Amino acid sequence: MKKLLLILFLPLAINAKAQLLVDTHNDAISNELITGHDLGQLQTEGNFDLVRAKQGGLNAQIFSIWCGDTYGKGTANAMANREIDSLFALIKRYPDKIALVTTPKQLTATVKKGKLAALIGVEGGHMIEDSMDYLDQLAKRGMSYMTLTWNNSTSWATSAATETTKPDTLKHKGLTDFGKQIVHHMNDLGVMVDVSHVGEKTFYDVIATTSKPVIASHSCVWNLDKSRRNLKDPQLQAIAKNGGVVFVNFYSGFVDSTYTEKENTFIRAHRPELDSLVNIYHDRDLATERLSAMYKAESNLVRPPLSMLIKHFDYIAKLIGVDHVGIGSDFDGSESFPQEMDSVADYPKIKTELLKIGYSEKDVAKIFGGNFMRVFKANKG
Ligand SMILES: [Zn+2]
Repeated sequence: MKKLLLILFLPLAINAKAQLLVDTHNDAISNELITGHDLGQLQTEGNFDLVRAKQGGLNAQIFSIWCGDTYGKGTANAMANREIDSLFALIKRYPDKIALVTTPKQLTATVKKGKLAALIGVEGGHMIEDSMDYLDQLAKRGMSYMTLTWNNSTSWATSAATETTKPDTLKHKGLTDFGKQIVHHMNDLGVMVDVSHVGEKTFYDVIATTSKPVIASHSCVWNLDKSRRNLKDPQLQAIAKNGGVVFVNFYSGFVDSTYTEKENTFIRAHRPELDSLVNIYHDRDLATERLSAMYKAESNLVRPPLSMLIKHFDYIAKLIGVDHVGIGSDFDGSESFPQEMDSVADYPKIKTELLKIGYSEKDVAKIFGGNFMRVFKANKG
Protein backbone atom coordinates (compact mmCIF):
# COMPACT_ATOMS: atom_id res chain seq x y z
CA MET A 1 0.00 0.00 0.00
CA LYS A 2 2.79 2.34 0.98
CA LYS A 3 4.55 1.61 -2.30
CA LEU A 4 1.38 2.30 -4.26
CA LEU A 5 0.95 5.64 -2.54
CA LEU A 6 4.52 6.55 -3.35
CA ILE A 7 3.97 5.73 -7.00
CA LEU A 8 0.75 7.72 -7.01
CA PHE A 9 2.39 10.77 -5.48
CA LEU A 10 5.61 10.64 -7.45
CA PRO A 11 4.29 12.57 -10.48
CA LEU A 12 2.88 15.19 -8.10
CA ALA A 13 6.26 15.57 -6.45
CA ILE A 14 7.92 16.08 -9.81
CA ASN A 15 5.33 18.66 -10.83
CA ALA A 16 5.82 20.45 -7.55
CA LYS A 17 9.50 21.09 -8.40
CA ALA A 18 9.74 24.81 -8.98
CA GLN A 19 10.22 25.91 -12.55
CA LEU A 20 13.34 28.02 -13.02
CA LEU A 21 12.26 31.62 -13.61
CA VAL A 22 14.98 34.16 -14.20
CA ASP A 23 14.42 37.87 -14.75
CA THR A 24 17.58 39.60 -15.96
CA HIS A 25 16.65 43.18 -15.15
CA ASN A 26 14.98 44.78 -12.15
CA ASP A 27 15.65 48.26 -10.73
CA ALA A 28 14.24 47.70 -7.23
CA ILE A 29 17.65 48.35 -5.65
CA SER A 30 18.24 51.80 -7.12
CA ASN A 31 14.59 52.89 -6.94
CA GLU A 32 13.07 51.20 -3.88
CA LEU A 33 15.60 49.60 -1.55
CA ILE A 34 17.96 52.54 -1.43
CA THR A 35 15.08 54.85 -0.52
CA GLY A 36 14.28 52.76 2.53
CA HIS A 37 11.62 50.28 1.37
CA ASP A 38 11.89 46.90 3.09
CA LEU A 39 11.74 44.58 0.10
CA GLY A 40 11.47 41.55 2.37
CA GLN A 41 7.91 42.61 3.18
CA LEU A 42 4.89 43.07 0.92
CA GLN A 43 5.00 46.62 -0.49
CA THR A 44 2.11 48.74 -1.72
CA GLU A 45 4.39 50.60 -4.14
CA GLY A 46 6.81 49.40 -6.77
CA ASN A 47 6.82 46.12 -8.66
CA PHE A 48 9.07 43.92 -6.55
CA ASP A 49 9.37 42.44 -3.08
CA LEU A 50 10.23 38.98 -1.80
CA VAL A 51 6.57 38.19 -1.05
CA ARG A 52 5.32 38.91 -4.56
CA ALA A 53 8.43 37.25 -6.06
CA LYS A 54 7.38 34.03 -4.35
CA GLN A 55 3.80 34.40 -5.58
CA GLY A 56 5.01 34.85 -9.17
CA GLY A 57 7.37 31.89 -9.04
CA LEU A 58 10.41 34.14 -9.53
CA ASN A 59 13.44 32.31 -8.22
CA ALA A 60 16.40 34.11 -9.84
CA GLN A 61 16.61 37.87 -10.16
CA ILE A 62 19.41 39.98 -11.57
CA PHE A 63 19.26 43.29 -9.74
CA SER A 64 20.32 46.33 -11.65
CA ILE A 65 22.94 48.51 -10.01
CA TRP A 66 22.31 51.85 -11.66
CA CYS A 67 22.95 55.54 -11.37
CA GLY A 68 22.23 58.24 -13.95
CA ASP A 69 24.58 60.50 -15.85
CA THR A 70 24.70 63.07 -13.02
CA TYR A 71 27.17 60.61 -11.47
CA GLY A 72 30.62 60.43 -13.01
CA LYS A 73 34.28 60.40 -12.08
CA GLY A 74 34.65 60.22 -8.31
CA THR A 75 30.96 59.47 -7.61
CA ALA A 76 29.57 56.76 -9.95
CA ASN A 77 31.62 53.85 -8.61
CA ALA A 78 30.87 54.85 -5.01
CA MET A 79 27.16 54.85 -5.82
CA ALA A 80 27.42 51.40 -7.42
CA ASN A 81 29.09 50.09 -4.26
CA ARG A 82 26.49 51.73 -2.04
CA GLU A 83 23.72 49.95 -3.96
CA ILE A 84 25.56 46.63 -3.74
CA ASP A 85 25.87 47.23 0.03
CA SER A 86 22.08 47.73 0.17
CA LEU A 87 21.49 44.43 -1.64
CA PHE A 88 23.88 42.66 0.76
CA ALA A 89 22.01 44.21 3.71
CA LEU A 90 18.71 42.85 2.35
CA ILE A 91 20.28 39.40 1.98
CA LYS A 92 21.61 39.60 5.53
CA ARG A 93 18.17 40.53 6.84
CA TYR A 94 16.42 37.64 5.05
CA PRO A 95 19.00 34.82 4.81
CA ASP A 96 16.28 32.17 4.61
CA LYS A 97 14.61 33.89 1.65
CA ILE A 98 17.37 35.29 -0.58
CA ALA A 99 21.04 34.58 -1.32
CA LEU A 100 23.74 36.11 -3.49
CA VAL A 101 24.68 33.99 -6.47
CA THR A 102 27.69 34.36 -8.76
CA THR A 103 27.90 30.97 -10.50
CA PRO A 104 25.42 28.66 -12.28
CA LYS A 105 26.06 25.98 -9.64
CA GLN A 106 25.18 28.37 -6.79
CA LEU A 107 22.08 29.46 -8.68
CA THR A 108 20.79 25.90 -9.03
CA ALA A 109 21.55 25.11 -5.36
CA THR A 110 19.83 28.30 -4.14
CA VAL A 111 16.70 27.68 -6.21
CA LYS A 112 16.59 24.11 -4.90
CA LYS A 113 16.50 25.47 -1.34
CA GLY A 114 13.46 27.58 -2.25
CA LYS A 115 15.33 30.88 -1.94
CA LEU A 116 15.51 33.70 -4.42
CA ALA A 117 18.87 33.69 -6.20
CA ALA A 118 20.06 37.30 -6.31
CA LEU A 119 22.51 38.28 -9.02
CA ILE A 120 24.15 41.62 -9.70
CA GLY A 121 24.02 43.45 -13.03
CA VAL A 122 25.75 46.82 -13.31
CA GLU A 123 23.82 49.07 -15.70
CA GLY A 124 26.20 51.58 -17.19
CA GLY A 125 29.91 51.42 -17.95
CA HIS A 126 30.29 54.88 -16.38
CA MET A 127 30.29 53.11 -13.00
CA ILE A 128 33.79 51.77 -13.64
CA GLU A 129 34.96 55.35 -14.26
CA ASP A 130 37.33 54.30 -17.09
CA SER A 131 39.22 52.05 -14.67
CA MET A 132 40.04 48.39 -15.22
CA ASP A 133 40.62 48.16 -11.44
CA TYR A 134 37.03 49.20 -10.77
CA LEU A 135 35.87 46.56 -13.26
CA ASP A 136 37.82 43.96 -11.26
CA GLN A 137 36.45 45.31 -7.99
CA LEU A 138 32.80 45.07 -9.14
CA ALA A 139 33.41 41.57 -10.51
CA LYS A 140 34.87 40.59 -7.14
CA ARG A 141 31.75 41.90 -5.40
CA GLY A 142 29.63 39.60 -7.55
CA MET A 143 28.81 41.42 -10.79
CA SER A 144 27.39 38.91 -13.28
CA TYR A 145 26.88 41.32 -16.16
CA MET A 146 27.72 44.87 -17.08
CA THR A 147 25.59 46.89 -19.48
CA LEU A 148 28.34 48.67 -21.41
CA THR A 149 26.43 51.96 -21.49
CA TRP A 150 23.25 53.36 -20.06
CA ASN A 151 21.69 56.24 -22.04
CA ASN A 152 24.93 58.16 -21.51
CA SER A 153 28.02 57.22 -23.52
CA THR A 154 31.36 56.52 -21.89
CA SER A 155 34.77 57.56 -23.21
CA TRP A 156 35.07 54.02 -24.64
CA ALA A 157 31.53 53.06 -25.80
CA THR A 158 28.70 55.04 -27.38
CA SER A 159 25.07 54.57 -26.36
CA ALA A 160 21.94 54.25 -28.51
CA ALA A 161 20.77 57.59 -27.12
CA THR A 162 23.85 59.58 -28.13
CA GLU A 163 24.41 57.71 -31.42
CA THR A 164 20.86 58.60 -32.51
CA THR A 165 20.03 61.96 -30.91
CA LYS A 166 23.41 63.70 -30.50
CA PRO A 167 25.71 62.18 -33.15
CA ASP A 168 27.50 65.53 -33.63
CA THR A 169 28.74 65.55 -30.04
CA LEU A 170 30.58 62.24 -30.44
CA LYS A 171 34.37 62.22 -30.47
CA HIS A 172 34.26 58.54 -31.44
CA LYS A 173 31.55 56.08 -32.37
CA GLY A 174 31.36 52.48 -31.18
CA LEU A 175 34.00 50.79 -29.03
CA THR A 176 37.44 52.38 -28.73
CA ASP A 177 40.55 50.21 -28.31
CA PHE A 178 40.12 50.56 -24.54
CA GLY A 179 36.47 49.53 -24.96
CA LYS A 180 37.60 46.38 -26.75
CA GLN A 181 40.05 45.65 -23.92
CA ILE A 182 37.17 45.99 -21.46
CA VAL A 183 35.08 43.47 -23.42
CA HIS A 184 38.04 41.04 -23.53
CA HIS A 185 38.61 41.48 -19.82
CA MET A 186 34.91 40.90 -19.05
CA ASN A 187 35.14 37.68 -21.10
CA ASP A 188 38.17 36.63 -19.02
CA LEU A 189 36.42 37.48 -15.75
CA GLY A 190 33.25 35.63 -16.78
CA VAL A 191 31.18 38.83 -16.57
CA MET A 192 28.48 38.77 -19.24
CA VAL A 193 28.52 41.62 -21.77
CA ASP A 194 25.13 43.33 -21.90
CA VAL A 195 24.27 45.22 -25.10
CA SER A 196 20.96 46.76 -24.00
CA HIS A 197 21.29 50.58 -24.30
CA VAL A 198 24.37 50.54 -26.56
CA GLY A 199 24.33 52.20 -29.99
CA GLU A 200 24.33 50.16 -33.19
CA LYS A 201 28.00 50.86 -33.89
CA THR A 202 28.98 49.73 -30.38
CA PHE A 203 26.70 46.70 -30.77
CA TYR A 204 28.46 45.41 -33.88
CA ASP A 205 31.90 46.23 -32.44
CA VAL A 206 30.99 44.12 -29.40
CA ILE A 207 29.82 41.22 -31.56
CA ALA A 208 33.12 41.34 -33.46
CA THR A 209 35.15 41.54 -30.24
CA THR A 210 33.57 39.18 -27.69
CA SER A 211 34.65 35.56 -27.37
CA LYS A 212 31.57 34.67 -25.28
CA PRO A 213 27.80 34.86 -25.89
CA VAL A 214 26.33 38.28 -25.10
CA ILE A 215 23.01 39.25 -23.58
CA ALA A 216 20.56 42.07 -24.14
CA SER A 217 19.31 42.16 -20.55
CA HIS A 218 16.20 44.29 -21.19
CA SER A 219 15.42 45.00 -24.86
CA CYS A 220 12.49 44.77 -27.27
CA VAL A 221 11.92 44.47 -31.02
CA TRP A 222 12.44 47.46 -33.33
CA ASN A 223 10.07 46.12 -35.98
CA LEU A 224 7.20 46.17 -33.46
CA ASP A 225 8.06 49.53 -31.88
CA LYS A 226 10.66 51.82 -33.41
CA SER A 227 12.14 53.06 -30.13
CA ARG A 228 15.78 54.02 -30.51
CA ARG A 229 17.20 51.19 -28.45
CA ASN A 230 14.91 48.38 -29.57
CA LEU A 231 16.77 45.77 -31.60
CA LYS A 232 16.55 45.59 -35.39
CA ASP A 233 16.27 42.23 -37.17
CA PRO A 234 19.98 42.05 -38.18
CA GLN A 235 20.93 42.76 -34.54
CA LEU A 236 18.65 39.98 -33.32
CA GLN A 237 20.18 37.65 -35.91
CA ALA A 238 23.70 38.64 -34.83
CA ILE A 239 22.85 37.80 -31.20
CA ALA A 240 21.56 34.37 -32.25
CA LYS A 241 24.71 33.72 -34.29
CA ASN A 242 26.79 34.68 -31.24
CA GLY A 243 24.80 32.20 -29.10
CA GLY A 244 23.40 35.03 -26.97
CA VAL A 245 19.94 35.80 -25.62
CA VAL A 246 17.55 38.77 -25.82
CA PHE A 247 15.58 39.27 -22.60
CA VAL A 248 12.32 41.08 -23.33
CA ASN A 249 11.70 44.43 -21.62
CA PHE A 250 8.11 45.04 -20.35
CA TYR A 251 8.20 48.87 -20.50
CA SER A 252 5.04 50.06 -22.32
CA GLY A 253 7.07 52.58 -24.33
CA PHE A 254 9.25 49.82 -25.84
CA VAL A 255 6.37 47.36 -26.28
CA ASP A 256 3.78 49.62 -27.96
CA SER A 257 4.59 52.33 -30.53
CA THR A 258 1.36 54.22 -29.68
CA TYR A 259 2.03 54.35 -25.93
CA THR A 260 3.86 57.69 -25.72
CA GLU A 261 1.16 59.56 -27.62
CA LYS A 262 -1.61 57.97 -25.52
CA GLU A 263 0.28 58.82 -22.32
CA ASN A 264 0.77 62.43 -23.45
CA THR A 265 -2.95 62.76 -24.21
CA PHE A 266 -3.82 61.46 -20.74
CA ILE A 267 -1.39 63.90 -19.10
CA ARG A 268 -2.69 66.85 -21.17
CA ALA A 269 -6.26 66.06 -20.10
CA HIS A 270 -5.25 66.26 -16.43
CA ARG A 271 -2.55 68.95 -16.58
CA PRO A 272 -3.75 71.17 -13.66
CA GLU A 273 -4.08 68.19 -11.31
CA LEU A 274 -0.67 66.91 -12.30
CA ASP A 275 0.89 70.32 -11.65
CA SER A 276 -0.57 70.47 -8.15
CA LEU A 277 0.60 66.90 -7.45
CA VAL A 278 4.12 67.89 -8.55
CA ASN A 279 3.89 70.76 -6.04
CA ILE A 280 3.00 68.30 -3.28
CA TYR A 281 5.50 65.53 -4.06
CA HIS A 282 8.32 67.52 -5.71
CA ASP A 283 8.83 64.48 -7.94
CA ARG A 284 7.30 64.28 -11.40
CA ASP A 285 7.39 60.49 -11.70
CA LEU A 286 5.73 60.03 -8.32
CA ALA A 287 3.12 62.70 -9.19
CA THR A 288 2.36 60.92 -12.48
CA GLU A 289 2.06 57.64 -10.61
CA ARG A 290 -0.44 59.24 -8.20
CA LEU A 291 -2.41 60.76 -11.09
CA SER A 292 -2.62 57.34 -12.75
CA ALA A 293 -3.88 55.86 -9.47
CA MET A 294 -6.59 58.56 -9.26
CA TYR A 295 -7.81 57.76 -12.77
CA LYS A 296 -7.18 54.03 -12.73
CA ALA A 297 -9.62 52.98 -15.45
CA GLU A 298 -8.57 55.76 -17.79
CA SER A 299 -4.84 55.31 -17.25
CA ASN A 300 -5.18 51.55 -17.65
CA LEU A 301 -6.31 52.12 -21.24
CA VAL A 302 -3.03 53.91 -21.91
CA ARG A 303 -1.18 50.65 -21.17
CA PRO A 304 -0.78 48.17 -24.04
CA PRO A 305 -2.65 44.86 -23.77
CA LEU A 306 -0.64 41.90 -22.47
CA SER A 307 -0.90 40.31 -25.93
CA MET A 308 1.32 43.06 -27.33
CA LEU A 309 4.10 42.16 -24.89
CA ILE A 310 3.74 38.51 -25.88
CA LYS A 311 4.21 39.54 -29.53
CA HIS A 312 7.80 40.58 -28.72
CA PHE A 313 8.59 37.14 -27.30
CA ASP A 314 6.92 35.51 -30.30
CA TYR A 315 8.66 37.74 -32.85
CA ILE A 316 12.13 36.97 -31.46
CA ALA A 317 11.40 33.24 -31.14
CA LYS A 318 10.07 33.07 -34.73
CA LEU A 319 12.97 35.09 -36.19
CA ILE A 320 15.97 33.66 -34.35
CA GLY A 321 14.65 30.67 -32.40
CA VAL A 322 13.20 29.95 -28.99
CA ASP A 323 16.74 29.38 -27.65
CA HIS A 324 17.45 33.10 -27.82
CA VAL A 325 14.65 34.77 -25.87
CA GLY A 326 14.02 35.35 -22.18
CA ILE A 327 12.57 37.75 -19.58
CA GLY A 328 14.18 41.08 -18.60
CA SER A 329 11.20 42.99 -17.25
CA ASP A 330 12.73 46.34 -16.22
CA PHE A 331 10.27 46.25 -13.30
CA ASP A 332 10.81 49.22 -10.97
CA GLY A 333 12.78 50.91 -13.72
CA SER A 334 9.89 52.20 -15.83
CA GLU A 335 6.68 54.07 -15.10
CA SER A 336 4.32 51.88 -17.14
CA PHE A 337 3.93 48.20 -17.97
CA PRO A 338 1.32 46.34 -20.05
CA GLN A 339 -2.13 45.62 -18.65
CA GLU A 340 -2.15 42.75 -16.13
CA MET A 341 1.61 43.14 -15.64
CA ASP A 342 1.66 44.99 -12.33
CA SER A 343 4.43 43.22 -10.48
CA VAL A 344 6.67 40.18 -10.19
CA ALA A 345 3.59 38.24 -9.06
CA ASP A 346 2.33 38.31 -12.66
CA TYR A 347 4.90 36.21 -14.59
CA PRO A 348 2.60 33.14 -14.67
CA LYS A 349 0.33 35.10 -17.05
CA ILE A 350 3.18 35.12 -19.59
CA LYS A 351 3.39 31.35 -19.41
CA THR A 352 -0.38 31.02 -19.87
CA GLU A 353 -0.31 33.30 -22.93
CA LEU A 354 2.68 31.52 -24.52
CA LEU A 355 1.02 28.11 -24.05
CA LYS A 356 -2.18 29.54 -25.55
CA ILE A 357 -0.42 30.56 -28.78
CA GLY A 358 1.22 27.19 -29.26
CA TYR A 359 4.45 27.22 -27.27
CA SER A 360 5.24 23.97 -25.46
CA GLU A 361 6.16 23.52 -21.80
CA LYS A 362 9.70 22.86 -23.03
CA ASP A 363 9.77 26.17 -24.93
CA VAL A 364 8.50 28.02 -21.86
CA ALA A 365 11.19 26.39 -19.72
CA LYS A 366 13.82 27.77 -22.09
CA ILE A 367 12.30 31.26 -22.13
CA PHE A 368 11.80 31.33 -18.36
CA GLY A 369 15.30 30.22 -17.40
CA GLY A 370 16.98 27.59 -19.58
CA ASN A 371 18.33 30.09 -22.08
CA PHE A 372 19.77 32.25 -19.33
CA MET A 373 21.52 29.27 -17.75
CA ARG A 374 23.10 28.37 -21.09
CA VAL A 375 24.59 31.82 -21.61
CA PHE A 376 25.56 32.15 -17.91
CA LYS A 377 27.43 28.82 -18.05
CA ALA A 378 29.10 29.73 -21.35
CA ASN A 379 30.44 32.94 -19.83
CA LYS A 380 31.69 31.25 -16.69
CA GLY A 381 33.33 28.38 -18.60
ZN1 LIG B 1 17.84 50.30 -18.71
